[in-house]
Amino acid sequence: KPVAQMTEAEASQAAAQLRDQLNQWREQYYTADTPTVEDHVYDENYRDLQNLEAAFPAIVTPDSPTQNVGGEILPEFTKVRHAIPMLSMGDVFSFEELNEFNQRLEKSTDQKLAYNVELKIDGLAIDLIYENGQLVQGSTRGNGTIGEDITKNLRTIESIPETLSQPLSIEVRGECYMPKEAFAKLNEAREANGEATFANPRNAAAGSLRQLDANVTKRRHLSTFMYTIVTFDGLQVSTQNEALKTLKELGFNVNPEYQLCTEMTQIDTYIQKHQAIRDDLAYGIDGVVLKVNDLVLQAQLGNTVKVPRWEIAYKFPPEEAQTVIHSIEWTV
Ligand code: NAD
Repeated sequence: KPVAQMTEAEASQAAAQLRDQLNQWREQYYTADTPTVEDHVYDENYRDLQNLEAAFPAIVTPDSPTQNVGGEILPEFTKVRHAIPMLSMGDVFSFEELNEFNQRLEKSTDQKLAYNVELKIDGLAIDLIYENGQLVQGSTRGNGTIGEDITKNLRTIESIPETLSQPLSIEVRGECYMPKEAFAKLNEAREANGEATFANPRNAAAGSLRQLDANVTKRRHLSTFMYTIVTFDGLQVSTQNEALKTLKELGFNVNPEYQLCTEMTQIDTYIQKHQAIRDDLAYGIDGVVLKVNDLVLQAQLGNTVKVPRWEIAYKFPPEEAQTVIHSIEWTV
């Protein structure tokens, strides 16, 4: 039944069903690192729940997946509290929705906006803390406020510097991922050994990072792209574009495909280009991210309980759907 024709009681019942289903999938995806449905199935059900909750705000419950980030932490790990929460990200599935996002933001800030546009890396978020230029702590996002201490495991990853190029005390965030080649080899070896294979590189990365034995992580050939400076320790950085350049100078791996865009047409071109070369990249991406470039404006726009208001993900269509389209084009 369309949402517009539902009574509140009907909407509440439908929402409860969606909540239970989505929370079960989330537990499997975030906590156990073994997803049981494709991301687009999760995304479609999540969208349905969002639409119900938007039409009937009274039916929103605190345990709704729309109100919570990620999953629970594994009890074997030491807990880490994120002084600045690690949030999720809003997403859209069409360029029209991206235009609406831009119009909404330009209206609320009363100015024309510039965006730093980046690839959305299909891995998991990590947080790194440096004191006087030395890595002292690394953690997962967890439920956004409490993450898992995985410092030992992160120290085995080559692209994570133990010492920065300057003796700064800073906190940075980014994505840990498993390159496609490492993923293919890992699954091949697991299959040959009769072990369960990983569903996708994202889950393989998550499973490889959340190990009690850091030697296992080391053998998995993980890599990283860092994209956020959380605390600056006097660094002169006023935009996201500068932040990426600074991260690179400090010794981090930064994805080179970012672009400063001042027009939506540039963003459209960026999306088309990267959607087309997606399969050729050595790492998985599931979309692109638009971030308001000016860090002061970002702070002014702030966050909802779950997502920053100054950024949005444009998600690519699911790969299966693309394959079908390609094969149709091929036969025609
Ligand atoms: P998300 O993964 O859609 O977006 C937020 C994350 O994007 C950040 O935490 C960060 O890790 C990552 N990211 C990658 N590149 C980035 C960049 N350049 N800049 C900033 N962040 C970047 O949000 P989420 O809340 O972590 O997960 C929700 C998504 O996870 C769903 O849309 C769905 O696709 C998937 N999911 C799937 C299942 C399932 O059962 N298949 C279950 C739960 C969630």
